[in-house]
Amino acid sequence: MEGTGRHNIFQKLKSLIIPIPKDLKDEFYSRIVKENLVRVMIISIIYVLFEIIIIFTDVQKVYSVYEDKLSTLIIIFHIVFILISYWLRFKKNHVNGMATQVIIYLYCFVLVYWSIDTSLEYINEHGSITLFILTLTGTSAFFYRRPLATLITNFGLCIYFALKIKYLVEDYIMIQLGNFSPGNFPVENTVDSMFIEVNLHIADAFLITVICCALGIVVYKLRLKVFLEKKALEELALKDSMTNLFNHKTICDLLKKEIRRSKRSSQPVSILMTDIDHFKKVNDTYGHQVGDQVIIKISKLLTEVCRETDYVGRYGGEEFLVVLIDTNEDGAKKFAERFRKEVEKMDFGLPYQVTVSGGVKTYENESAEEMIKLADRALYKAKEKGRNCIISAGIN
Ligand code: GH3
Ligand code: MG
Ligand code: MG
Repeated sequence: MEGTGRHNIFQKLKSLIIPIPKDLKDEFYSRIVKENLVRVMIISIIYVLFEIIIIFTDVQKVYSVYEDKLSTLIIIFHIVFILISYWLRFKKNHVNGMATQVIIYLYCFVLVYWSIDTSLEYINEHGSITLFILTLTGTSAFFYRRPLATLITNFGLCIYFALKIKYLVEDYIMIQLGNFSPGNFPVENTVDSMFIEVNLHIADAFLITVICCALGIVVYKLRLKVFLEKKALEELALKDSMTNLFNHKTICDLLKKEIRRSKRSSQPVSILMTDIDHFKKVNDTYGHQVGDQVIIKISKLLTEVCRETDYVGRYGGEEFLVVLIDTNEDGAKKFAERFRKEVEKMDFGLPYQVTVSGGVKTYENESAEEMIKLADRALYKAKEKGRNCIISAGIN
């Protein structure tokens, strides 16, 4: 029983984290990093404007603190971050997700750190923690940070706040005690009430930190959920549900895109159009479900034998189109032969061997439609030749 209980708690803790599929990790991190960079820019611009307004409206020099070095340092810090964020977001083609995330965590840390120092600047007179609360809430709500980073940053800053306020108040009391002459000691009540106030502030800071951590994690989880749902929808629109290969429209669009790239870079691009031989026989003898399994197995094999950069699509029923990047006619024929031989060796659990035929075509300034037509014609020739073979469109 105890084991099950522990298991349940473990499951619940695990459900707090939405797992990101490995292949989507980089894309998700680089996307949230880009959104965070824009937020860094917006917040820093607001800070700089705020500082400038204060300096210009403070004619009576009430806030003389804004004239000191710290104020200049804050303005420089924000301007540097505006420039860095602008460069990373708009000028750099590829943003390293991990390194940029660390920069953003540091930015949030420094914002809250300064807010603690500013909050406690007048602690002796006002005892305010308002700026700390505002900044902690703001950074938790506006920035997408990984849950562990949120917990470490927020609690680390909360501990810093507690230590600093205690230190400042003890320091203040020591100075006050020194000012009173013996026999004239009215401070005992004041000291007690100050410590009570400090402890209340620390309790408030702890509570707000817990709330901000929860807020930060919820914000992050919602962003991840939206990302995964959008990805699933994209997948649905781009891919064939049975084989998980690209669907007819997508593979044709990808071929067009690769033709444009080949024109620009002068790198070759080839296609293979392949079709299962006598597939009707499989369906008619063993039923459509067995036929489906054959299609799925061949799809998997195609994905395995081609390069990661190539594209595999289901062109029609049991007809597949492979776009082979940076591959000339020779390479395409070799690839097609390797695939054909693998199918020939594959065990489909049927009394006879399933085979495939294929037509290969390398790009030679024709349109995508023309290229497909020529590959299809080569495939037709392979069927005519007796099937289980590959014909190249280059050979007339
Ligand atoms: P050939 O060697 O000339 O290609 O002969 P074939 O029997 O394979 O002929 P064809 O390519 O014309 O037949 C395709 C068959 O594939 C017809 C269709 O019923 C079947 N088919 C198409 N899509 C699917 C599918 O998703 N699942 C199953 N089980 N069968 C399908
Ligand atoms: Mg067929
Ligand atoms: Mg067919």
